[in-house]
Parts: sequence; C-alpha cells; structure tokens
Amino acid sequence: MLPYVLLALIAPLLALAQGDDGGISGPTTSADAAGYSCDASKCKLPDCNCASANPPGGLSPSDVPMFIVFTADDAVQSYTLDSINQFLGHRQNPNGCKPKMTYYTSLNYTNYTLVTDWYVEGNEIADHTMTHVGDPPDDEVYGNLIALNALAGIPLESIQGFRAPFLNYSVNTLKLLAKAGFTYDSSASASLPVTDPNTDAYWPYSLDNGMANDCLMVEGMCKGEPKLPGFWEIPMYAFFDNLGVNGPHLMDPWLDNANGATKVNDSATLEYMQNTFTAHYKGNRQPIGLYTHPIHLSTTYPGVNAPNSTINMINQFLDWAQVQQGRLNSFAPLKCSTPQIDSSTKICNGIPQNEAGLLSHCPFPDFPFYTCYGCPTEAPTTSNPNPAQQVPDGEQARFRLPSNCSTAFWDPIAGKCLCTGSDWTGGSTDGGANPTASSYVPFNGKGYSVPAGVWAATFVGVVGAVVGVIGVF
Ligand SMILES: [Zn+2]
Repeated sequence: MLPYVLLALIAPLLALAQGDDGGISGPTTSADAAGYSCDASKCKLPDCNCASANPPGGLSPSDVPMFIVFTADDAVQSYTLDSINQFLGHRQNPNGCKPKMTYYTSLNYTNYTLVTDWYVEGNEIADHTMTHVGDPPDDEVYGNLIALNALAGIPLESIQGFRAPFLNYSVNTLKLLAKAGFTYDSSASASLPVTDPNTDAYWPYSLDNGMANDCLMVEGMCKGEPKLPGFWEIPMYAFFDNLGVNGPHLMDPWLDNANGATKVNDSATLEYMQNTFTAHYKGNRQPIGLYTHPIHLSTTYPGVNAPNSTINMINQFLDWAQVQQGRLNSFAPLKCSTPQIDSSTKICNGIPQNEAGLLSHCPFPDFPFYTCYGCPTEAPTTSNPNPAQQVPDGEQARFRLPSNCSTAFWDPIAGKCLCTGSDWTGGSTDGGANPTASSYVPFNGKGYSVPAGVWAATFVGVVGAVVGVIGVF
C-alpha cells in the first residue's frame, strides 16, 4: 500500500474543508427579483431548457427518475474516497450498477493518482479551482483543467462542470465558464421549498434567458442576465426543516442544527431530509442533493473521529430513499462501465496489478502526491499549472493523455492507446468515439487556450453529469 498522504497535511486540510461552508439562511431569490421569462416553444431540448419546476421535455413526473445527486468538494485523498465509499460502495442503482458521483476537485492536497482511479471508476471529475478561491479569476479555473489533464490524465472533454468555492460566484464566473466550453455550473442555491408556488427548485436549465436563481444574492444576476446560450445551471437543492423557508440546509446538512435548536440532532436531521425528499418525489421530482465535504465524515483520517451516529443517519437516509424505488432500466448515463483490460497490461486504472510500478512520488513539501504521468519539476501553480516533467536518470518521460484516448486505456510509458473500436468504452464520456491506432493528438497544456465548444452540451449530457445518482422511480 502507498502512504498516500502525509500526516503533516492534516491540520491545513481540515481547516480548508471546514472553511468551505457555502450555507444559506433564507431565500436567495424571489419571483420579482428573477424577472425571468422563457418561451418554451422556442427554447427546446437538447440545447435549451427553460428554468421550470416541471420536468424537462414536458414529461410527467411519474415518467422521470428521482435522482439523488451525491457530490463531494475539495481535495481528493484516500480519506475522502474512503468516506464516500462508506455511503456508496455497497449500493446499487435499480439497474444493478454502482452509483456514481461528482467530485468538485481543488488541487491543494490532492493526490493526483487517486483522481485518475476515481475517474476510471466511472465518477465525474469537475473543477473547483486550483487553490480554492471564491469568485475565481480565469487562471484558477483553467489551471485546474490543465493540471488535472496533465497529472491525473483526465480528458479535458470530460471536465464539464464547475462549482465555486464557498459557492462564491459572480456573473463573470458564469461567463468565463461558458466561454471556456464548460457545460454547466452548480453553484446556485434552490432556496424555496418545492411546495412553495414560487419555488426556485428548477430542474437543470440552460442560461439562454439568463439565471433565475440567486437573484437576491449575486450582483447583476437575473432579469434576463447573463444570457449564455447552451450553458447550464444545475441548482443545488436545499433541504428544509420545520422552519420551512427559514430553515434551509444546503451543504453538509448533518453538521447543521435542525429546527432552530442549539445542537445537532441526527434524528431531526433525518426527519427533515426525508420530508424534503418526499416533497420532491411526490411533486415534480426535482433532484435531491447530498452535497458533502467528505473529510468531515472520514473514519480513516488520523486524529479525527467522525460521529458514527451521523454516518449511520446518512446511510439510513440513503437506504430509505432507495426503498422508494421502482425500476430504472436503460438510462444510458447510469449504465455500468467497467473497462476490460488484461491483468498484465501496465496502465493507470486503480487496479493494483495494472498500476504496479507505474506511479511516481512527487515529494513537494506542501502537498506531496503520486502520479502516473511523471512528476513535474515544480508544484503546479496558477501561473504554471503544467510545469515541465522531471525525468529520472535512465528513464524516459511519461506520455501524457492525448485527446483521443480514454484514461483507462492509455499506456503512459509506451505512449499507446490500448483499445480501439467498440471495446473503447471506459472512463470517457464520449464512448461513441473510435480512436485510430495511429493518430494520437498530444494535449498541449501550456498556456490557457482551452478552446470553446470542446464539450458537447446536450440535456442528457447534463443529466449524465449529475452523476452522483441513485435513480429511483
Ligand atoms: Zn470547496
């Protein structure tokens, strides 16, 4: 086993995780502040969808899955993945496949090889800035893409989503994301219960007609702005306790006091989470979100004792929600996707026999990490997210992922894509592509020229990106 993370990192990491609250205490919008209008006869799927509490495409609620969106924010480490696994590892979706989740990854304290492994497992990797800053400048957003591509082998085209640290974003953030070719943002709050006739718990929508969430919170938002055709917002859906609109709980609700009490009460938390779920499920089936900072709930993090009662409570909620299910048969983004690779093949896919001997340890004092793709000569920074590779004596440089191979099939030593044709199914979100054996296109990660429009934006793509899901009918 690798000593993935040094113990010296504990204090700063925990401070970082705890600093990222992003809570709300009341409504963040109103119908008047929204001033939203959208002509559904003109704004149509797959490229356009009006902000609406009703399911997209005119579907009846009984015909759409009840999604549970599970997300995690901040650094990816063995502790955080252990934490997520204690909730999702033993579960199955109704179609028999393992639930997948979305990891909004920031890079301080991140162990890149674990990002690779988590992605190959089928989870979504999304952008949360390099160094965890709110209202981020563009180099924080682009640098995250470039470093994740270079050092974790995440295909650029699969990094489709963004969440702002502290949920602190601006009109400029959204414009920047749309320009860079992201498919969606998920930083806005749905702050009014679904039972409210003016609820802002909209299904994911495109910003062709501007934003309809956070109108009271973010300057310059709403009343038709910002208009970003084909760019989507996936609101974060709050839970509500007995105080209703005055008792919203957004991120890590299990850390909050329920019903105005002065201390945490897990049974009260479970009760309001179930009540909010039921309101969604029996109403218009807007997704329910479990937005976590998994470090809080890790049982393997030295010196931290996550309360078992809280962990049990969350699992109890998930068990209960899964029991509400019928069948979810053939929704493509939820299908199982396990890459098939011979056990003697040397690639970085999180499977020990494949990965053995491939990892480099990059001993940077602030946050050492492992990578399959060769250590950089210096730690990545916003001004240089992809420093030159440091090549040990007697070795050759590792080949980094080109744009037409999937992570799970990339041999970083030979510089070869090990899979062609119909077997090329793992990891990447563009599984229909068919790379040829001879035409690799190396990614030039230097500079910030991330081309716009790299990522396809379809509604299924967006819903597929909401992959922290346990789908239930
Ligand atoms: Zn964060």
